[in-house]
Amino acid sequence: MTLRVAVVGSGPAGFYAAGHLLDSDLEVEVDMLERLPTPWGLVRFGVAPDHPKIKAVSRAFERIAAQPGYRFLGGVDVGKDLTHDDLARLYDAVVYAVGAQTDRPLAIPGEDLPGSWAATELVAWYNGHPDYQGLEFDLSVERAVVVGAGNVALDVIRMLALSPEEIRPTDTTDEAIEAILGSGLKEIVLLARRGPAQAAFTTPELKELGELADADVLIDPSELELDPASEASLEHDTNARRNVEVLRGFAARPASGKRRMIRLRFAVSPVAILGEGRVEAIEIVRNRLVAGAGGGVRAEPTGEHETIPCGIVFRSVGYLGVELPGVPFDAGRATIPNDAGRVAGAPGVYCAGWIKRGPSGVIGTNKKDATETVDRLVEDARAGRLHRGDPEATADTVEELLEARGVEHVTYEGWEAIDVEERARGEAQGRPRVKLVTWDDLRSAARRIAAS
Ligand code: NAP
Repeated sequence: MTLRVAVVGSGPAGFYAAGHLLDSDLEVEVDMLERLPTPWGLVRFGVAPDHPKIKAVSRAFERIAAQPGYRFLGGVDVGKDLTHDDLARLYDAVVYAVGAQTDRPLAIPGEDLPGSWAATELVAWYNGHPDYQGLEFDLSVERAVVVGAGNVALDVIRMLALSPEEIRPTDTTDEAIEAILGSGLKEIVLLARRGPAQAAFTTPELKELGELADADVLIDPSELELDPASEASLEHDTNARRNVEVLRGFAARPASGKRRMIRLRFAVSPVAILGEGRVEAIEIVRNRLVAGAGGGVRAEPTGEHETIPCGIVFRSVGYLGVELPGVPFDAGRATIPNDAGRVAGAPGVYCAGWIKRGPSGVIGTNKKDATETVDRLVEDARAGRLHRGDPEATADTVEELLEARGVEHVTYEGWEAIDVEERARGEAQGRPRVKLVTWDDLRSAARRIAAS
């Protein structure tokens, strides 16, 4: 009998899981359920638009989608349009690959003031996510502060600092291009709570900051001085060693009078976001680095405070997984509790990607991760441990149920129609694509082809 598997989420983890399942020697049908009308998750809505080579991983996803047995059901909100119980009835196995859908809070006063944003909101906005259009980032201010020292923080800083020649050929939305180019930003400040040897960003991304046409990178050399434990860590931590080298190079470079300044600060933590009715400043405390548990380095506040005037703050301290109704959830780790992808206490239920291991790693990390999960699933299928609640349920049953509930799903052909339209709009302007950014536009593009 054909094994029917639902993969929930169409980002890298979902696609790698689907691909590995379809490559297995099982007779299998994979339905990929996605809340949005478009696939690829953070490859479409997270990866920075000036990184087209990273976005090109989508070609591998297209090859997976072309395999027999694959079906895309876009515009289907699992938890609402179809519940977990529905999936358990309709499929032999369910793989949750829903990522980490919200941001980690800073938990400091003033965090909710207007002008304090999650970096992920800006990212989703400039990438054309239909739920984030219409957000009004006030970029008329002179100074922005970005909290956190990961790759998302660097993406946000770089995107805000791109020159017209750098941003115009990308698939950044037109609204974001105009807002960024018209912004009054003179300085963007990154706040890292630990030292340069503990920064989470990777060296190629760091180097890019130093190559921007319109922005100088400034660092106070005293903030690059390393304590003995950090110095010692450089021996075995290649990324940290390279980061420190690049940062020292930046610190040695005089400002060349470019339009914008990117200031990188280390060993400082925000303690409050200040302002009357909107962000006017951020108060920070200087940290000292102390040896932490397990050989790590921890930041400890010194009591020495400083206030940085700024008009906008982007909090970029990591993503957080969100609980799905009816699916086990570990609120402490913000992941689905699992053993190598098998969801604890829920036979036939699996997870992959950020909702399985937390928001870490690069796109490729999800391949190994999803492979591990699918290997368990295949093992369980071979051992006869998988059963769909309704043995009669077929691919048609799913469509009938969606129709009965008034859910108009977007098929893969519908997505291809969106894709063709976006690429055509982009081609005229020498851009990879010009995205459709509203639910209505996406749905009507998908419908037009369905009708033709
Ligand atoms: P991340 O890499 O986990 O970085 C989070 C940063 O926030 C760390 O520097 C962390 O410092 C800091 N932080 C956490 N809590 C804080 C607090 N309360 N106060 C101040 N700072 C705090 O997260 P991310 O940047 O969101 O990236 C998520 C994943 O996507 C990462 O694996 C990243 O590499 C990947 N990504 C890759 C690319 C790319 O390859 N180009 C682009 C974007 C994202 P501590 O280290 O001290 O905790």
